[in-house]
Amino acid sequence: MSRVLILVDIQNDFIPGGALPVPGGDQIVPVVNQILPFFDLVVATQDWHPPDHGSFASNHPGKKVYDTIELNGLQQILWPDHCVQGSHGADFVQNLNTNPVEAIFRKGTDPKIDSYSGFFDNGRKKSTGLADYLHGRGVKEVFVAGLAGEFCVNYTIMDAADLGFKTFLIKDATRPLDWQNFEKAMQKMQEKGVTILESKDLGNR
Ligand SMILES: [Zn+2]
Repeated sequence: MSRVLILVDIQNDFIPGGALPVPGGDQIVPVVNQILPFFDLVVATQDWHPPDHGSFASNHPGKKVYDTIELNGLQQILWPDHCVQGSHGADFVQNLNTNPVEAIFRKGTDPKIDSYSGFFDNGRKKSTGLADYLHGRGVKEVFVAGLAGEFCVNYTIMDAADLGFKTFLIKDATRPLDWQNFEKAMQKMQEKGVTILESKDLGNR
């Protein structure tokens, strides 16, 4: 039985000093580096936006960061410009050990729609190919860690569970923008059968 670790958006813009910093986001990096050997397969997602992306407040005159708008029929929170394709902010955090990462799935490339999940865009119209890749590699168990907990990690986990994978959140290798919202998200994960564990529990599995 094959188990994958999906590293979600561990990128410079999502750690302190970046454009959309997750509090303590940098603190997950040593935890992630330590758990890499527990997995048969490691993949990563990368938020990868064109400069004219519809999730950027700067592309909507008169709107502010964190305003909510309707973007092509979907509710969209407006973010600071972040993870622009090819920018330093879009790079993986430097001290993250990316050597074991066998494949990188980029998302948010279409300016008309955002993509929190590593599997699908927010309208679930277009797949990134991640699900097919995991099925092709015989993956049965999906473990998820990264940034930010209540957004891209949460959406990736919910999709993994919907796709029929046995799904796990590694809580101490994840940080949210807002802990209250993350707690609510974790409750929904558990209702869907997702297991929440800590990195120290991996040795016993
Ligand atoms: Zn984004």
